[in-house]
Amino acid sequence: MRVFYSPRYGLALPGHIWPTSKYRLVAEHLKADIVEPGMASWDDLALAHTSEYLDTLRNGTLTAEEIATLELPWVPGLIDGFRVMVGGTCEAARAALDEGVSAHIGGGLHHAFANHGEGFCPLNDIAVAVRVLQRERGIRRAAIVDCDVHHGNGTAMIFERDPDVYTFSIHQQHNYPLFKPRSDLDIGLEDGAGDASYLDALADALPKVMESRPELMVYVAGADPFERDQLGGLSLTKAGLVRRDELVIDAGRQADVPIVVVLAGGYAVDVGDTVDIHVNTIRALQRYGAQRLKRVKE
Ligand SMILES: [Zn+2]
Repeated sequence: MRVFYSPRYGLALPGHIWPTSKYRLVAEHLKADIVEPGMASWDDLALAHTSEYLDTLRNGTLTAEEIATLELPWVPGLIDGFRVMVGGTCEAARAALDEGVSAHIGGGLHHAFANHGEGFCPLNDIAVAVRVLQRERGIRRAAIVDCDVHHGNGTAMIFERDPDVYTFSIHQQHNYPLFKPRSDLDIGLEDGAGDASYLDALADALPKVMESRPELMVYVAGADPFERDQLGGLSLTKAGLVRRDELVIDAGRQADVPIVVVLAGGYAVDVGDTVDIHVNTIRALQRYGAQRLKRVKE
């Protein structure tokens, strides 16, 4: 299974809660065929973002208010780093279509809207990748399975009026973002939900997602539902998160739908926990990919 990653994701964000070192640490922990992606073109970005917004990013003319909404320091190389991250999701999604499974050690920037960035997400790699594959590969339907602890507001809004892209978000209801545009299916869980109620709700929801008959599943595998996450409050254990990964991957397996994993959030007190959770997700996908390959060859 090909895994996409660039050292450019390790942006220095002084004093910020986002541990951008996690990408390198995940890459180091995995035994994987790692491929470095190229930058997404402005034309590709324009498939999901307005040209006015992209101009402000290109020219560095975001207002102080827009930068505050983005909640990122405006450091040199920021936008180019994120353009590579969008490129990584596009390349991983192509690889998933070709080979059945692929992972991106990056991406999951689900809070970016067509016309503005929010919550650490200047660009929505998920939306761009779906649009790129619809254009390049002629796929029509895709499903987003967003298991980050935060609602996938940007993705939901971008695909709000698109019947071909099924958006599903399972998240902590009383958490960022305050405004949660409707996904095709939203499950907002109570604070401290824990493994059992989370996994029950997920298992109930996945058949509904797969009824949309997607030709690609984007699994947004946030590590922040974890019990020791600083920005999440769903109290899942590592074992519960492994079970979550298995449920999502199994839903894709049963429907024989290509799966691409993107990492999204993860702010555990100990970055090692965030890395473990992401590594577990990618390993589960690698195991499934190996079984699938064996089946195809037989
Ligand atoms: Zn999150």
